[in-house]
Amino acid sequence: MKIILQGGLPRARRAELARAVAALLPGCRMGAVPGGFSAALPRPEKAADAVPAIENLPGVAAVTFTDAELCPRATAPGKKIFSSPLPFGRGPVFIAGPCAVEDGLSYLASAAALKAAGAHALRAAIFKPRSSPYAFQGLGWPGLKIIAAARQLTGLPLVTETTDPRQVGRLAAVCDVLQIGARNMRNYELLKEAAGSGRAVLLKRAMRSTLREWLLSAEYLLAHGAKKVALCERGDASPDGRGPLLNFALMAAAQKISGLPVLADPSHAARSRERAAVLAVQALRAGADGLLLEASAEPLSSRVDGRQTVDLKTFRAIAGTPCKKHR
Ligand code: PEP
Ligand code: MN
Repeated sequence: MKIILQGGLPRARRAELARAVAALLPGCRMGAVPGGFSAALPRPEKAADAVPAIENLPGVAAVTFTDAELCPRATAPGKKIFSSPLPFGRGPVFIAGPCAVEDGLSYLASAAALKAAGAHALRAAIFKPRSSPYAFQGLGWPGLKIIAAARQLTGLPLVTETTDPRQVGRLAAVCDVLQIGARNMRNYELLKEAAGSGRAVLLKRAMRSTLREWLLSAEYLLAHGAKKVALCERGDASPDGRGPLLNFALMAAAQKISGLPVLADPSHAARSRERAAVLAVQALRAGADGLLLEASAEPLSSRVDGRQTVDLKTFRAIAGTPCKKHR
């Protein structure tokens, strides 16, 4: 961490501040940097409690951290995640399915057809956080037996969204990956519960959140016991409702800094199935480690997000896209 001092401090005050910082951070190694000094701790996360006191010392202008200091687990090299149940490392992974599970027959038909078209895992959402309180919120627990049946029918792993810590245990008993949606990226109690479930966690980036906030949420997962974590870039929604699309630069930065797999969700940024298909291919060409994609056998009859859900033919073409040489 760096402790940046206000300009023009007398030498004696600077020395006093260095001593005060050292006293607040037992075991730290101090050094000089332009504008102030650095303090390195063997366990940088141990600095968190001392930071408010350091910031409050008269003469201190700011305390800054690198990503590695703030997120030692999410930036640790070589931990590379997710060898199973999803086939990371052997090319991009395709998680496909309708936005929400709506009824048993149509879900099972889509699941089988998506497997045949190249899906490696199923979107299997039975709890849906919706912007409107009047919109369909998912089937809830009655949907659990439908997704379990889809798993049995296809053998594909299930990726399901959890919106509440009280759901985690029951979902984890049936599903392979717990998805933390964009709205819940900052729901720290949910992150902790999902982390302790023993299941892999797919963490979407919250709308308008920074790379650092995203990494800190991944850090929550890893610090609370998650062994397998992947990230998913889903784009931002702008106040005018049109929104910028996926942020490939951020996706690449997240891959580089964290070493975690980073998928892309082309569906929610696109808001149309034509644009979703274009974004999906762009994401793969930009090096996404996989896609979380809304796809179904009957997108025209979907109750939720049908207009951005691609059909089987389109999904098959996307799954066959030649990609950037994979990491
Ligand atoms: C989803 O993937 O089902 C979803 C709700 O997306 P997001 O959390 O990114 O809005
Ligand atoms: Mn959706």
